[in-house]
Amino acid sequence: MPGPKTHDIFYRDLKQHLSCSTLRSFPNYDEYNIFAQGHDLFIYHNFYKIWSLNNNIQASVMMQETKFAEFVYNYLKYAVEVGFEEDEQIRLFIGPGYVMHHILDAYTHPQIIYYAGDHTRNPNNSTWKHGIVENLIDIYMMEKFEGKNPNTYPVYEDFIFSQSISPRLIQTLNHALFETYHISNGGDVFAESFFQMELFMKIFKYDSTGIKQKIFDGIDPVVKGTSSFSYHRNSQEALPYLNLDHEAWLNPSDSTVVSRESFLDLYNKALSNGAEIVNGLESMFMRGIINQDDIFSLVPNISSVHGLDCERPFQLRYTKNKL
Ligand SMILES: [Zn+2]
Repeated sequence: MPGPKTHDIFYRDLKQHLSCSTLRSFPNYDEYNIFAQGHDLFIYHNFYKIWSLNNNIQASVMMQETKFAEFVYNYLKYAVEVGFEEDEQIRLFIGPGYVMHHILDAYTHPQIIYYAGDHTRNPNNSTWKHGIVENLIDIYMMEKFEGKNPNTYPVYEDFIFSQSISPRLIQTLNHALFETYHISNGGDVFAESFFQMELFMKIFKYDSTGIKQKIFDGIDPVVKGTSSFSYHRNSQEALPYLNLDHEAWLNPSDSTVVSRESFLDLYNKALSNGAEIVNGLESMFMRGIINQDDIFSLVPNISSVHGLDCERPFQLRYTKNKL
């Protein structure tokens, strides 16, 4: 994942890139920005257990790394089979929410991992640089794209979700998550998470006085990773990780994949390529015909961790700086 705020900004940006006919079928687009959290909603669910062993993290990892296109297909196939395709939440969740979250991850993650030098939290490392970098990028994006002061802006207000969840969305998610990943009641988990994000942001990211930043940084050497919390930080600290100078970097899992793109290049590429996918999915819904080949040629089956083919395992081999 890039951080929650970057995904949130991406969802809002996407609206400008969608076709007129797609937009016409999303009259309530702005009300559902929480859908932008995608598979991370498993991680935020009951977040107060975030550092404990949590089955949901395993569920999220499966969704990040395996069967991406198959999940999208199973979701659409079921929704159309049972006649739910008219439901705006059904269509908003999968395209602008879930698929776009995954695409932004898949495009930007290799660059973030290469520059941060690590991926998942590892208690043997001195800290969790990946989380720290994504938190800094959130702050940078908020300032640059929204003109908000991340140090004082009550960011949790951007995560207030006040809609009622369509039971059809929960049912479709339950079905597709079970069929693809053998995850039970995943739709119910997502539905609860929609309402838990606001509190997560209030506790861990909003920090108008900077007191939390001091506490999180103070306990980081012991807990390893708490410095990835608090938006009361200097956005300029993100700059060394964005590759704004366009130097060459390697895919952390495969040195034959070389790029000079910056974080913002990748963000913009995800936006325009992703918009085409969302438009494509929307026209499938409108036609009411879900064909597996069509979906597999529209939705790239890529892992949100290394951006390469889903079924390739991720191995962290190449980073800018050894930790
Ligand atoms: Zn990440």
